[in-house]
Amino acid sequence: MTIRVGIGYDLHRLEGGGDHLMLGGVRVPFDGGAVAHSDGDVVIHALIDAMLGAAGLGNIGQRFPDSDPNLRGVDSMALLERTIRLLHSSGFTVVNADMVVVLERPRLAPHLDAMRQRIAECLKIERHRVSVKPKTNEGVGPEGRGEAVSAQAVVLVQQQ
Ligand code: MG
Repeated sequence: MTIRVGIGYDLHRLEGGGDHLMLGGVRVPFDGGAVAHSDGDVVIHALIDAMLGAAGLGNIGQRFPDSDPNLRGVDSMALLERTIRLLHSSGFTVVNADMVVVLERPRLAPHLDAMRQRIAECLKIERHRVSVKPKTNEGVGPEGRGEAVSAQAVVLVQQQ
């Protein structure tokens, strides 16, 4: 059995005018929105890159390019579903996934369980193997000023 690790990162700019953010597959009410070609879910985008990196299957930009008109406004959970199928077809399963999401507001604590549940179901693993941790940026940097939301992910995979 082979064990491998992958890392992922993503950031999207925030702008006024929206009414929610998609984070970890969950709709979070917010008086703004993420600037994105897709639904702008940085948690899922970081996770996908970590999974692809761990399995040596490229990166999100290669697999799901911004230039593809079929991916405009796409549900990032659909991309995560395609990613886990890619891993499974190469003999990989996810051991655990740990994510950090950085934004100043809104508070994410009420939504974390739902994010873990959605991600675990999509990856076909138990919920205790998925972790999502919110952080503020202490008011500094683009996240701290409310100009952006970012996420980091680390994933361990095993290949039978
Ligand atoms: Mg992205």
